[in-house]
Amino acid sequence: MSSNFHAYTNRYLIDDLENRLGTNDLLAWLDNEADELASEGRIPLGFVHFSKSLLQKRKIKRICEAEVIGKACIRPTEDEHYEITYNPVLSHHALRLAIAHEIGHTYWFQPGGGAKPLSPLQRRLGRDPDIECLCNRFAESLLLPLREIKSLELKNQEGLPRLELIPEVTNKYKLEERAVVRKLFARKGSPFAGIISMKLTTQMWTTRWCIIPKRAYELRTPTGFRIPLCGKKTVPLEMLPEIPKGQTVATILDGRWWDGLKQVPANIAKTPFDRLSRHNSRPGLALRLSNVIYLGLLA
Ligand SMILES: [Zn+2]
Repeated sequence: MSSNFHAYTNRYLIDDLENRLGTNDLLAWLDNEADELASEGRIPLGFVHFSKSLLQKRKIKRICEAEVIGKACIRPTEDEHYEITYNPVLSHHALRLAIAHEIGHTYWFQPGGGAKPLSPLQRRLGRDPDIECLCNRFAESLLLPLREIKSLELKNQEGLPRLELIPEVTNKYKLEERAVVRKLFARKGSPFAGIISMKLTTQMWTTRWCIIPKRAYELRTPTGFRIPLCGKKTVPLEMLPEIPKGQTVATILDGRWWDGLKQVPANIAKTPFDRLSRHNSRPGLALRLSNVIYLGLLA
C-alpha cells in the first residue's frame, strides 16, 4: 500500500489496480512508467516532446483540435488505437499537460483497445476521481521526469529550497508552474505548509496560485468549503516581505498567509486580507523577481 493511500477516494480500487499491475506502490509504478515513456520523447532542448514513437508506445494514432467539453478527450479508434482531441483555447503549457493527462488514461483501459476499464471498481459513468488524479500525476511525471528532477540543484548554498527553480523549470520543460511546484517542492517530506505565488498587475499584487503539499495528490475540498488562497486575492502592501530581488531568502512573513491555507466555508474564504486581524508572524522563504513573488510558508 502506498503512503499516499489516505488521499484516495476508493482504496479498494487502488488495491485492485495494484494487484492487476503487480505493484504495491501504484504512484511509484506510474512515475516509473512515465519516466520510461518520457525517454521516447526527449529532445536536446530538454523538454519532453510528444514524438511519434512516444505516442506509438501508448497506441495513440493522432492528436487533433476539436470542439471538446473541457480541456481534452481520448477515445478509441476503429483499429485498437486511440485519438486525443483537445480544446484549441488552451495555452501552450496547459495544452501539453492536458495531452499528457489523456495519454495517462491509456493505463486504465483494458489492454487490446477500446475504453473498457482495467478494474471493475472504476466508475463507469462520468469521471472517476481517483483515475483523474492518477492521470494528473502521470502527466506531471511524464513532462518533468524523476531523473530530470534528480539532476537539479534543489537547494542553494544556505540549504534553502531554491524557489527560483519555479520559473526556470517552467520555461525549460514547458509546464505550468503549479505542476512544477508539485514535482519539486510539494513532495513527501516537504518543509512547507503552502507555496504561493503572486503577481504585480497594474500596481496591485494579486495571488495567482497556491499549492498545499499535504494534499498534493489532489486538492479535494468538501462542497461549500474553500481554501482562500486557491482563489485570487489582493495582497495589501504590508503583507509583502521586504527582501532583495533575485534569490530565495529566509524571512518572517505575515501570519495571515497561513490563514489563507485553511479550509473555511466558501463565503468566509472571500474575506479580503485587509479585513483579517493581524497576528503572529511566522518564518518562511521568499523570492522576489521583478513582478512576481513566491512564498514558501514553513509548516
Ligand atoms: Zn481525465
